[in-house]
Amino acid sequence: MSDVDVETTDEQRLLQESVRELFAKRYDRAYVRECDRDHRPPVEAFGELGRLGYLGVSIPSEYDGGGGGVFDAALLLEELGKGFLDLAFWVFRNLGHGAHAIHAYGTEEQKKQLLPRLARGEVSVCFALTEPDSGSDAAAVRTAATRTDDGYLVTGQKIFCSGFKVSDYVLTVTRTGTGARKHHGITLLLIPTDSPGLTSRPLDTLGHWPLGTTQLYFDEVRVPDENRIGPHDDGWPVLMDVLEFERLCLSAARAGAAQSALTDALEYAKQRHQFGHPIGEYQAVSHKLAEMQMMVDISRMLVYRYASRLDRGVNTIRDAAMLKLYACEAYKAVADMGLQILGGYGYTMEYDLQRHLRDSRLGTIGAGTSEIQRNIIAKTMGL
Ligand SMILES: Cc1cc2nc3c(=O)[nH]c(=O)nc-3n(C[C@H](O)[C@H](O)[C@H](O)COP(=O)(O)OP(=O)(O)OC[C@H]3O[C@@H](n4cnc5c(N)ncnc54)[C@H](O)[C@@H]3O)c2cc1C
Repeated sequence: MSDVDVETTDEQRLLQESVRELFAKRYDRAYVRECDRDHRPPVEAFGELGRLGYLGVSIPSEYDGGGGGVFDAALLLEELGKGFLDLAFWVFRNLGHGAHAIHAYGTEEQKKQLLPRLARGEVSVCFALTEPDSGSDAAAVRTAATRTDDGYLVTGQKIFCSGFKVSDYVLTVTRTGTGARKHHGITLLLIPTDSPGLTSRPLDTLGHWPLGTTQLYFDEVRVPDENRIGPHDDGWPVLMDVLEFERLCLSAARAGAAQSALTDALEYAKQRHQFGHPIGEYQAVSHKLAEMQMMVDISRMLVYRYASRLDRGVNTIRDAAMLKLYACEAYKAVADMGLQILGGYGYTMEYDLQRHLRDSRLGTIGAGTSEIQRNIIAKTMGL
């Protein structure tokens, strides 16, 4: 594996090595393939990560976490992404939509109640922003949270809520005000997934089978005030912050997954012979691998750059958009080229490139499409 010249501490290197070891010893390819084939969440691996303390990596130690920063979380997610992308996605939702949102915007009571349990993997959080009529236009959400004496009554629909089946709470973006400015009147609520009136319908998708994605129906779901994350009506900046943290996490995981796709293709190119030579000796193949290596390295560099900026409190929306755009397009391209290198075998379910190709396809759509990331970057350029 190439090194992109990032300075890591002994502790961070230990974190990377121990996760690699865990995959090698206990959650190998066969485990990942089985979970994928059976659409089964990796509960054993997730539970073990919780017991070993990884899930609290960026949760402050006063709440029983590891006390690390965003950079530590990015390193963890990159390693998890190498081994099992859906496991990394489960973890990132807990770190982002769970721990980050609660730590940055929750009350002291919410932090005490939930952060230690998130750190141990006793609870999981998923995220519901998208609605049937509100996708890229996130501020157009309509799921209504109407005020009651002690909280809210939530009615509406969400679509594509990933990981709902393994979650205890869904961080839900609701409409609480209907003034002229659509970015006003947004409130985030942490809703227990077993709330009366909340039902779900799984959706069949091309990839990301272990965690799956779901349509949600809210029919007068009662949510107490204590479950609000951030201010009433002024939740838009909270949402933007949560989305930017999400872009970092999912890009780190995908940079790791892209590295795995590259490793598989490289090994194959070295051992597969045609016309009396390893196919990797043909320039058409070696140039693809060179291109793939470059894309993986750039993805990792962008991840590290943005993670260190977040640790220093510098958060630029352009960096988040560039990272998300690049890392997701890169994973898709790497998976596609990797499958081509494996020829017919890449197209079978007996190799992992098909899973990379299916999973990577979501990257340019979910959490803000590539077109929307380009719009964001262009806007920061005064366009
Ligand atoms: C498997 C999966 C998992 C997901 N998980 C979650 C989740 O856990 N939580 C959640 O809230 N959401 C989730 N999503 C939803 C995802 O974030 C949305 O699908 C995405 O934001 C795009 O919204 P849309 O599908 O409604 O597409 P639309 O917004 O309808 O866009 C359709 C097309 O038009 C383009 N387009 C739209 N507006 C513009 C514009 N202004 N300029 C240029 N192009 C434009 C888009 O780029 C896209 O190509 C998931 C989606 C999938 C498929």
